Amino acid sequence: MPHRVIVIGAGYAGAIAAGRIARRIRREDVAITLVNAEPDFVERVRLHQLATGQRLKTRPLAEMFAGTGVDLRIARVTGVDVDRRTVSVTDGNGVDDEHDYDTLVYALGSGWNSRGVPGTSEHAYEIASRPGALRLRERLARLDAGQAVVVVGGGLTGLEAATEIAETRPDLDVTLTARGGLGDWLSPGGRAHVRTVFDRLGITAREHAEVTEVAADHVSTATGDTIPAAVTVWTTGFAVHPIAAASALEVTDGGQIVVDSTMRSVSHPDVYAVGDAALAIGPGGKPLRMSCASGGPAAWQAADAVAARLTGRKPPTVPIRYYNQCVSLGRREGLIQFVTADDRAVSAFLAGRFAAGYKELVCRGAAWAVAHPTLGLPTRRRRVTPQGQRNPEPGDVRFPLRRSIAKL
Ligand SMILES: Cc1cc2nc3c(=O)[nH]c(=O)nc-3n(C[C@H](O)[C@H](O)[C@H](O)COP(=O)(O)OP(=O)(O)OC[C@H]3O[C@@H](n4cnc5c(N)ncnc54)[C@H](O)[C@@H]3O)c2cc1C
Repeated sequence: MPHRVIVIGAGYAGAIAAGRIARRIRREDVAITLVNAEPDFVERVRLHQLATGQRLKTRPLAEMFAGTGVDLRIARVTGVDVDRRTVSVTDGNGVDDEHDYDTLVYALGSGWNSRGVPGTSEHAYEIASRPGALRLRERLARLDAGQAVVVVGGGLTGLEAATEIAETRPDLDVTLTARGGLGDWLSPGGRAHVRTVFDRLGITAREHAEVTEVAADHVSTATGDTIPAAVTVWTTGFAVHPIAAASALEVTDGGQIVVDSTMRSVSHPDVYAVGDAALAIGPGGKPLRMSCASGGPAAWQAADAVAARLTGRKPPTVPIRYYNQCVSLGRREGLIQFVTADDRAVSAFLAGRFAAGYKELVCRGAAWAVAHPTLGLPTRRRRVTPQGQRNPEPGDVRFPLRRSIAKL
């Protein structure tokens, strides 16, 4: 009987993990099922482009995984039972089903994070999901010249959304509200460049403005200000799906699965978690942030650990560190902010058209990595050993992660 691996979520992390495991283990020894709610691979890093009316390449998962040995199941995961080792799903016809697994790779990603601010669910738009981006696209197309758009959130997604909207619709009155200063985590030069682009695109930055309520035609701030907003775009970080927290898995307060340095759950050794759904500790003892930048390497790590353990070898360790933050500022401008291994800005940065091109290459590279999970290198498919088949006990988790989490 082949070892049953189920990967749930075919975003950047899950798709890479599934494809890479398939290229590491002999086909007859493993049955890999990849479950995803949507039939296409969604390039989340481009959803601000989708929201502003650009066409994105359609990438059907069935084509991407044809001939790889990975079975694709288009269905929505409704629950995981890590004691019974089952995944419950509902397909497009509303039919419920259950899959048994020997190894689970959990990669359901994340969605928008309203942070419980009143009015967000009724009035705000989000771009963390494709349906959300399409809804915003439709709304923006109906706005008349001069109407106000407020982007809430001064992080990477907020900067990308505000600049993309202002560049595509120069007739709109675009404001970005940030809890801190504009781009305050960037180097002085990087920050200055963001200001220059904002000025050029006519975007108003409302700094040190915490939005406390969203209404149909305005947002209110903690200092009592009211900012007119025909459309409010909410970009204050991401939140994970509640499925992991509803299981017996050890999760953080935010619901991310706590994993060790091989991306294996610290509570259930037959479960791995990757991408936004996982909390792993990176360089400097800091949690890796929700990003493709670390989600891809985490998926390589998880896949290699699964394959190594099943084939009776020691899991290799993929160093996961940051090199740069790549920010698009519309289609013609960008910022590449170089960072330390633990993601702190250094003084070096690239700006302008060259940076926009660099960022475009990074986005293409991320999609390419999904289709080439072993980075195009030849791979050797190994046999699953009887010893590898036996799942290790929880005590096998050696990484002192709990102590690191306790310090956070
Ligand atoms: C607009 C925007 C711009 C971004 N730009 C950058 C950037 O420049 N650089 C960067 O590093 N990161 C960026 N990010 C963050 C990055 O997109 C995420 O960190 C990354 O997508 C996480 O990958 P993932 O595989 O964990 O999750 P996802 O990419 O979200 O994939 C999760 C998958 O699981 C599926 N799924 C979810 N729930 C279920 C369910 N119940 N059943 C079945 N399937 C389900 C989804 O359909 C999806 O296919 C950006 C995000 C956004 C929204």
